[in-house]
Amino acid sequence: MVVPYSAEPATDFTKEENKKAFKDALEQVKKDFGVKRPLIIGGEHIETDDQITSYNPSNKEEVVGHVSKATTEHIDSAMEAAEKAFETWSEWDPKDRAELFIRVAAIIRRRKHEFSALMVYEAGKPWNEADGDTNEGIDFIEYYARSMMELADGKPTLDREGEHNHYFYQPMGPGVTISPWNFPFAIMTGTTAAPVIAGNTVLLKPAEDTPLIAYKLMEVLEEAGLPKGVVNFVTGDPAEIGDYMVDHHKTHFITFTGSKATGLRINKRAAEVHEGQDFLKRVITEMGGKDTIIVDKDADLDLAADSIVNSAFGFSGQKCSAGSRAVIHKDVYDEVLAKSIELTKELTVGNPVDETYMGPVINKKQFDKISEYIETGKKEGKLEIGGETDDSTGYFIHPTIFSGLDPKAVIMQEEIFGPVVAFAKADDFDEMLEIANNTEYGLTGAVITNTRENWILACRKFNVGNLYLNRGCTAAVVGYHPFGGFKMSGTDQKTGSPDYMLNFLEQKVVSEMF
Ligand code: NAP
Repeated sequence: MVVPYSAEPATDFTKEENKKAFKDALEQVKKDFGVKRPLIIGGEHIETDDQITSYNPSNKEEVVGHVSKATTEHIDSAMEAAEKAFETWSEWDPKDRAELFIRVAAIIRRRKHEFSALMVYEAGKPWNEADGDTNEGIDFIEYYARSMMELADGKPTLDREGEHNHYFYQPMGPGVTISPWNFPFAIMTGTTAAPVIAGNTVLLKPAEDTPLIAYKLMEVLEEAGLPKGVVNFVTGDPAEIGDYMVDHHKTHFITFTGSKATGLRINKRAAEVHEGQDFLKRVITEMGGKDTIIVDKDADLDLAADSIVNSAFGFSGQKCSAGSRAVIHKDVYDEVLAKSIELTKELTVGNPVDETYMGPVINKKQFDKISEYIETGKKEGKLEIGGETDDSTGYFIHPTIFSGLDPKAVIMQEEIFGPVVAFAKADDFDEMLEIANNTEYGLTGAVITNTRENWILACRKFNVGNLYLNRGCTAAVVGYHPFGGFKMSGTDQKTGSPDYMLNFLEQKVVSEMF
């Protein structure tokens, strides 16, 4: 028996001893700057001449480290290694696989601050966001390990006279994990651990901006004794290896988290059957969001402003769940806007090493893209606060509020993925719901109201995978808030849910006649 799952608690940085431990970790991690990390294929460490450099987005000249760059030949070798490892790993008792991963979680927990500190440098995460990212990675492992234990013996089916039936689960084969930079540890870990605990083997391609934190997971997997070839670390340029991994005739599944454009591309390519492939590929795509908080006329307005500001600006709005639209009842619009502006004035922006509320955005491409949206916002609405951008040292963008937006305006429709929130006014609750549903996405949303009928209405009509009442629309917790969206936000397989492991298992029935 293992203890029941519970989420990893956040580190309390108001406590001096935690603060000191984190500062020590920040110093410690810095000693590794410039390190070169190899590919890991079938347990072999392979360093290539061609490298990807990971920079600190707060200090864009600062090199955090380098990783090797896989070629298509490396992908072929990794696939071979994964196929070979599958033969034995898939035969392990599922409970033994799960227990190995509980050990993995324990090692990460012991080294927690080291992981979070690296994300402060590599992803520009503020302390609490980095801590949350590491904790969520631990949660995914702990949760999926327990899910697998529950599924290990299959599920009951009916027997009848002269017939015994057994319904059980088996892994599929080697597959591919492709992860984003915004939750560089949690999502990368969760989408690697789930298929592997299920008995599959994986080629892991983390995001180019955050490969070093992904390498830390590989270190732990090696330390915990994961057999060689079960997880193969193949960092590289997606233009060279991305399509190749997806198209590969031995790829049984692809678990992808990232933008809509890449998700759609993967979904389409994976549908094609290649020579030597005698199965259909399973595709899990968790894509973008354009998430809305609606505020009713009888709402707690302080709570509304707090929810809007924190959902919009936490980790500089670089969350798929970020609240980038605030739709407010006309009777309370001015007050909520004024309160939100006041709260935004208090937010600090700067190098997150210094415990700022917001750090930089991830890279130049995102900085330019968000800056362009700010220019668009100036034409479409009124700039209330923010709008300043500065990429002289790192990629800093101040928290920005636009008001008076038409619901169909560009900044009300497109995912910005930066610290920008657009306010729109509505006449009544029905109109608020209509605006909330008027994008192509359907990931998260929140309703701030004290009218129960309106909440009940929203539960049916607000078309998102994760809807919250009287709180912000970010910060889903594994096991408590299974996470995933509708429409163009993805295939809605709900990470951190009791059903998630089924994505990586085949269901088999054996019927015996007596
Ligand atoms: P992205 O550009 O689509 O990249 C995601 C991953 O796909 C990266 O590892 C990327 O590699 C790789 N990739 C790019 N082109 C590829 C190709 N042709 N074939 C295979 N892989 C390819 O997305 P991102 O900018 O990293 O992430 C931000 C997006 O993720 C936002 O839209 C956000 O909403 C979404 N997101 C969704 C969820 C969710 O649960 N729904 C969670 C987090 C983030 P490189 O990094 O090397 O380019």
